[in-house]
Amino acid sequence: MVETYYRGSIVFWSFFLIIHFSPSQCLGDKLPIISSIFPIADMVRQVGGEHVDVVVVLPAGASPHTFEPKPSLIKKISSAKIFFMVGVGLEFWAQKMVSLSGAGLKTVVLSKGIPLIHATEHFDGHETHHGKNIDSDFNLEVANPHIWLNPIIAKSMVNTIITALSEVDNRHLTYYNQQGQLYLDELDKLDDLIRKTVASFRIKKYVSFHASWDYFARQYGLQSVGVIEAAPGRNPTPALIKNIVASIKKYEIKAVFAEPQLNPRAAEVIANEANVKFLMLDPMGGPKLAGRNSYVGLMKYNLNVWKEAME
Ligand SMILES: [Zn+2]
Repeated sequence: MVETYYRGSIVFWSFFLIIHFSPSQCLGDKLPIISSIFPIADMVRQVGGEHVDVVVVLPAGASPHTFEPKPSLIKKISSAKIFFMVGVGLEFWAQKMVSLSGAGLKTVVLSKGIPLIHATEHFDGHETHHGKNIDSDFNLEVANPHIWLNPIIAKSMVNTIITALSEVDNRHLTYYNQQGQLYLDELDKLDDLIRKTVASFRIKKYVSFHASWDYFARQYGLQSVGVIEAAPGRNPTPALIKNIVASIKKYEIKAVFAEPQLNPRAAEVIANEANVKFLMLDPMGGPKLAGRNSYVGLMKYNLNVWKEAME
């Protein structure tokens, strides 16, 4: 039932492939930008302010791992000047779109130069949802793509955004650098808040829904002892469920996480079986979700969820 609804909602949302992120009605001389996921769109808006018009490809509620764009997206993208993406295979669905968009579009891969967590480093050597091994920004699935959920890495991404905006639109170079610096300071404060909060956690081990929090965990000293969905949408085997329930008991874990973009049923089953809380961590956020309608807001929302699970 849930799966049917989920698939239905993808079909529904595919009619709204392009969600306007900027409230402005008129483009004017704003720099037209496209970004794959909402957290990146927000970073670009924080740096670019009034001089950019940012469009998000992924609709609210969709997962980049299961997204299927319509061909009409290619046409819409051709009017943008920059496409900001994570890379590491997260935007596997964008390869054709970018190759057809022509020389007018600058593609900026924000994972360039970031030390990546490789799939083999994951729990028990379980295959992650990044199992393939083809070397390109669209298919390099040997590594984990969820880099933005670590604010220190987000700072590197923001620096890349500042450089890209300044290069493509150097009339506003000073503006981008000033806004960018203010935002970097805000990310420093966010990092500080998360570091202090996580340091007070009694429990440092967790079970994740899929491997989205690995960069966050590495930064702040948390440890994943189980991944419920090795690949998004793939249900865990009874043996894996048994293992995870055993780990929850062994490490006295108090909660199991799910994510709003993916079917939570497996996490619910495990939470019931282990008799622990069932909580939602949100790696994506969205422009219309109160408290999660900015990257910093999203991270604070998630920090509170972590707190509930780990204190
Ligand atoms: Zn993910």
